Order: sequence, then structure tokens, then C-alpha cells
Amino acid sequence: MPLMSPESRFGRFGGREWHGYDTAQVCLNGHVITQFAGTRPERLKKFCDKCGAETIIACPKCSKSIQGYHHTGSVHGPPRKEAPAFCHESGTAFPWTEAQIAAAQRLADETAEFTPEDREQFRQSLNDMVKQTPSTPLAVNRSKKLLLKGGRLVSDGLRDILVDVLSEAVKKQIWG
Ligand SMILES: [Zn+2]
Ligand SMILES: [Zn+2]
Repeated sequence: MPLMSPESRFGRFGGREWHGYDTAQVCLNGHVITQFAGTRPERLKKFCDKCGAETIIACPKCSKSIQGYHHTGSVHGPPRKEAPAFCHESGTAFPWTEAQIAAAQRLADETAEFTPEDREQFRQSLNDMVKQTPSTPLAVNRSKKLLLKGGRLVSDGLRDILVDVLSEAVKKQIWG
């Protein structure tokens, strides 16, 4: 059993209880600096220590705090490692989500095995996979076919780019 951090045992900080979502601080490339920006401000970093990018604690569009660790008061899970893909308030894709989608699209655009129609289909599928809409299963099927066409290198490259932006379920369906 993994050791629990003090925060996950009790949501009590400086004598006060913290209920609900803490605030997360994330760098523009999607590295989570801390899930406890609200309760442990000493963990805040101006720049990411993994990639040097600027960090944010709020949605650039609506200024709502990025949701971090969920203090529930009773059941405590480990903090999520990944940053949310979209703002829970405005539905805006966070900068790291946009960057990862753009990078995946670039790779598809540079893949010689893909026709222009393939690239367009990949673009649409990518959006449906990231957003987890009713079209997601269809998008997953299409992407699997495209990745077979693109070959191992393209498939692996896309997996690396999209590792944080796709859900575990989608990743499992595509890459096993
Ligand atoms: Zn970073
Ligand atoms: Zn927002």
C-alpha cells in the first residue's frame, strides 16, 4: 500500500478544514506542479521545473481555478497525476490540451502514408477522442485503422504525444 501524503489523510491546514476541490497549478505544457496550490502555497512554482514553461492556476479564458485534489473529508484517494484537459467552468481546452492536439495533428500531417482525406479524418477523430463525445467510439475505430496505415513509428509517436490528453479507456482501446 502506498504511503499517503499528509494532505490525503486529512484536509486540515493551518487549523482550518479545506472542503471540496483544492486548486491545481499546471505548467503550460501540462506538467502538474501541485494539486494543492490552495492549501500548500509553498509548493507553487513560477516556472515548471520539468520544462521551464510558465505555470497557471486558473483558466486563461474564464479565470476559474483549475481543480486540484478533491478533499472529501472521508475517503481519500491518491492525488491525480494528470492535469485536466478542459476547464470545468467554461469548457475551454487548456493550453496543454491545445498544444498536444496541435502536435499530434502535425505528426499526422507529416505522415507520408496518409492521404489528405486521412489527415482530415484524423483531425476530426482526434477532437472526438479528446472530448469523449458520443462519437468517441467511432473516432477510436477510425484512428486505429489510420494508425495501422501509418505504421509503428507514427502509432508510437502519437501515443507519446497524446498520453496525457486521452482517457485511459481510449488509450487502451487504441494501443492495447
Ligand atoms: Zn512543464
Ligand atoms: Zn474556463
